[in-house]
Amino acid sequence: MSVLVVCPGKDPENWVKALKNQHPGMNVYVYPEEHDTEEVEFAITWNHPRGLFKNYPNLKVIASMGAGVDHILSDAALPDNVEVTKIVDDTLTEDMGDFVLSQVMNHIRGLHHYVKNQQKKQWEKFQYKRPQNTKVGIMGLGVLGNAVADKLHKNFFKVYGWSRTEKNCDNVTSFHGKDQLQEFLENSEILVCLLPLTDDTCDILNADLFDMLPEGAYIINVARGEHLVEHDLMKMIDNGHLSGASLDVFREEPLPDEHPFWDHPRINITPHIASLTKPESVVAQIAENYDRMKEDEPLKNKVEMEKGY
Ligand code: NDP
Repeated sequence: MSVLVVCPGKDPENWVKALKNQHPGMNVYVYPEEHDTEEVEFAITWNHPRGLFKNYPNLKVIASMGAGVDHILSDAALPDNVEVTKIVDDTLTEDMGDFVLSQVMNHIRGLHHYVKNQQKKQWEKFQYKRPQNTKVGIMGLGVLGNAVADKLHKNFFKVYGWSRTEKNCDNVTSFHGKDQLQEFLENSEILVCLLPLTDDTCDILNADLFDMLPEGAYIINVARGEHLVEHDLMKMIDNGHLSGASLDVFREEPLPDEHPFWDHPRINITPHIASLTKPESVVAQIAENYDRMKEDEPLKNKVEMEKGY
């Protein structure tokens, strides 16, 4: 019985080292090095080549290296009956809270103006909003959305949330389902996307949705690039309805040199770093699921395939 690590474009060595530290008896292969495909029952992956897992007749579990699983489920050739797990990790969750808070604060204090003005040696003061007077709407009240909501509340923001099913969260005015989307959006002066990427949520950040936001709303997308219709965002910023955006994720990553987002004065770009998985912090839960698979016990953080997250 062996474990396969597949993460093209990433260095697998930290993963292998952390797995072996955690579970010294584990036999770990790294794709594409030569290995016996029949031996592999458990795979750990990020952005595997499409169709790869069809070649593993005994594969039972695919563990995502991160909180998102769209990179696995979007493979039309995924073997039947395979179980998929995702990462739920305190460090990942806390880091997302810190990042979103930093972007929200950056926006209300207008800090990006001063970075630009420093380059021009320009001394210019701007008025700013206070957290107490700022409404932030979070799309997705899961592990990360909840943590972000909590952090923003502790920093005195007025927090609104939207999810698929009804929630009763402390300190968050929550809405759910398509019927309540408009009311949620009308209260979102800053809109944070923390939805998983599914058929229902792809392209959800589009002109119709932006129209329902208050004039001057600001967008923070830390979920997936495919949530955002890029052209609609540019149009709504350029016509003044939106005041700008902070984008951490993109339809194509790395963002191509010629992409208009790079030079847009009202768009802040970060290279998908809102919250990075640290192998040493998450291998324990992966190793535990490996043992659970061997013992035929229910897996932790299992993805519901029919929901897509
Ligand atoms: P969860 O699965 O814990 O939560 C997902 C939330 O989205 C749930 O509240 C769910 O509602 C809601 N949701 C799903 N579909 C819909 C829908 N159609 N309409 C309304 N609400 C919906 O996910 P996480 O919080 O762990 O992660 C969210 C995403 O963040 C990941 O999928 C990943 O793409 C992204 N991410 C980005 C990172 C970065 O560095 N930029 C790092 C890590 C993750 P309900 O509760 O009712 O089911």
